[in-house]
Amino acid sequence: MNSIEIIDLKFQQAEKTIASFLIRGAGKPVLVETGPHSTWGELKSSLDRLDIKPGDLGALLLSHIHFDHAGAAWELAKEGVKIYLHPMGLPHLANPERLWKSAAKIYGDDQMDKLWGPMETIDERLLVPLEDGEMVTIGDLTFTAIHSPGHAIHHIAWKLNDVIFTGDVGGVKINNGPVVPPCPPPDINIEDWKSSVEKILDHHPKKLYLTHFGEITNPQEHLAQLIEVLDEWAMWMKVQFDKGRDLEEITPDFMNYTSQQLNRHGASKDLQSLYEYANPSWMSVSGLMRYWKLKAEGRI
Ligand SMILES: [Zn+2]
Repeated sequence: MNSIEIIDLKFQQAEKTIASFLIRGAGKPVLVETGPHSTWGELKSSLDRLDIKPGDLGALLLSHIHFDHAGAAWELAKEGVKIYLHPMGLPHLANPERLWKSAAKIYGDDQMDKLWGPMETIDERLLVPLEDGEMVTIGDLTFTAIHSPGHAIHHIAWKLNDVIFTGDVGGVKINNGPVVPPCPPPDINIEDWKSSVEKILDHHPKKLYLTHFGEITNPQEHLAQLIEVLDEWAMWMKVQFDKGRDLEEITPDFMNYTSQQLNRHGASKDLQSLYEYANPSWMSVSGLMRYWKLKAEGRI
């Protein structure tokens, strides 16, 4: 029997914002997502509690190369663990300098270490790109790569039997809060996102595993709600874009708007702050505004 362990990486000392998944079958265990390097200590001690050393892992599967998903991948590479990922993400992990610089532009240099920690180069021989529909088998565990752009162009949702690890394309949902779409720059594409959700539904998954955060037992309903909110957010932002407002002006209004949505779902203030950790409002403003800008310029 396979088992799936949800590891809470306790990002910024908060619970249930970033997960890593440990899957055990007959062969070597497999990890899906590493979280950022700032939670590497937490990941290591969680693996230790499960009696696993980083070098024991048979593979690391990454949904995409954003820091909160792949920031500690290089530590596993140092242990010789093979890393499976989207071909477009590969060069960024092999040479993370550009990725780091563009993140520093978004977060500010002073925040990088506190939030994400360092990122080192990875030996390309350990990075294995998978095309859409390609599979990787470790022991009796077979994972299928579902290329799923929308949140990021280099995004893979990983199917294992009748469950799918959805990275960020399956949205963010914490505790009993609503599902929301994480919309950071620079790749947000609403049309692609919807097609990716369709693609996931075509596999008729019984469960989803969200990196932010955990198990979803009603995939159809969950993904329908995600698309609904994605459309609402996109249209709300379109109004701001058409008015020509600045990002700095929009962000507090967007926070009010999403906080009202969370209130309607009965989300407490504490829960709302977890949502903000997992999916900062200012990032979604920036990502969605970029989407409308590129659309207006006919570039997407
Ligand atoms: Zn994420």
